[in-house]
Amino acid sequence: VTPEQDFVLKTIESRDVHFVRFWFTDVLGNMKSFAVVPGELESAFDDGMGFDASCIEGFSERRESDMLAFPDPSTFQVLPWRPTSNAVARMICNIRTPEGKPYEGDSRQVLKSMVRKASEAGYSFIVGPELEYFYFKDAEGTEVLDRGSYFDLTSLDSASDLRRDTVLTLEKMGIPVEYSHHEKGPSQHEIDLRYADALSMADAVMTYKQVVKEIAMKHGVYASLMPKPLAGAPGSGMHVHQSLMDRAGNNVFFDESDPSGYNLSATAKAYIAGLLKYAPEFTLVTNQYVNSYKRLQPGGEAPTCISWGARNRSTLVRIPGYRPRSESACRVELRSPDPAANPYLAFAVMLAAGLAGIEEGLELMAPADEAAPLGCSRREHRERGVTPLPESLGEAVELFAQSSLMRETLGEHIHDYLVRAKRAEWDAYQAVVTPWELERNLAVL
Ligand code: GLU
Ligand code: MG
Ligand code: MG
Repeated sequence: VTPEQDFVLKTIESRDVHFVRFWFTDVLGNMKSFAVVPGELESAFDDGMGFDASCIEGFSERRESDMLAFPDPSTFQVLPWRPTSNAVARMICNIRTPEGKPYEGDSRQVLKSMVRKASEAGYSFIVGPELEYFYFKDAEGTEVLDRGSYFDLTSLDSASDLRRDTVLTLEKMGIPVEYSHHEKGPSQHEIDLRYADALSMADAVMTYKQVVKEIAMKHGVYASLMPKPLAGAPGSGMHVHQSLMDRAGNNVFFDESDPSGYNLSATAKAYIAGLLKYAPEFTLVTNQYVNSYKRLQPGGEAPTCISWGARNRSTLVRIPGYRPRSESACRVELRSPDPAANPYLAFAVMLAAGLAGIEEGLELMAPADEAAPLGCSRREHRERGVTPLPESLGEAVELFAQSSLMRETLGEHIHDYLVRAKRAEWDAYQAVVTPWELERNLAVL
């Protein structure tokens, strides 16, 4: 028994834990879980717990359906929304094959190997995501709880207590929160997590989504992380602030002597150039549903084209706080991802794109603050020589299918699965006759 495992076993006794939930994530980023009794834990640490992987989205074909879940003792947390006697705890798992090899369908594994690759190049990857979401009366429709807007308070913000309860619960689970506020849309909210290394952060994002939904349910409402639930309001994004740290703990993105005034090092610029170059290929991962592309429309604060800048919030990559003075605050914000993405895969592809930019020594294009004004249409972007982001799931999946960087980063298994599943989703959507078409056409055609 390792000291970490020993800590888990002792805490289970002292906190009266009767159920230990094993958490893992399917390829699309849905949390999966089964409960284990404490008596099984010692052997689970050594030998894993078997489960049928053929029912997990993106896992195995039938011939290799048995997989093993190995709980990671460093992720042990008691669930604060469950009773305190006969309590419930959770551990996040790594998935292995019966032969004991890391399973290639396990997205946590994909992020781990990408993080390892970065560390071999001398970097650790630090991320800070901002997740937006909506509260609705229930899951049956989109009836909002309030008509509040950005930073609104009290009477217009009927969800203050919900948000407070959510933040406190996250903190009880060891997830520090930096900001929380009402967002622009009615009933839309945002909670920003304090930056951390990418693997702990992906675990934290999975926990966050669970906590937001659990606490909403406790208050009798429904929380949705759908990218664009309301046609007339902004969608929900998951902006990801990112930076690289060297082995001595210095932020390698920071350079005070940067002549451009952004305080960005040559490494940071090559990293941004990598994000921009590979964005068309990784967008399928950061924006994985038909609905994701309804958020990426011109006119709002979601990006529609391959650009970067400081003030313009419709750019794909933004440098927050013009001329950030301090080393610790120097970072780049990728604005395309949405909260329905699988955070393990999303962080892995961002890192891969940025590192490729550094390896290839890419030149960063000029900032687009003037070139791409807010609300610019895709045609106008093209006329200015700016490449648009994929316009639909159908376009994104074909760009992803052709990408050798994506295949290398995610592995053949996940790459093949996503191409298959997302083509099927796009085909199914294309075959639907929508109310919009009937309303426009039926009476006149
Ligand atoms: N909700 C916007 C989005 O879809 C972002 C608003 C903001 O800048 O926080 O990305
Ligand atoms: Mg926001
Ligand atoms: Mg932001």
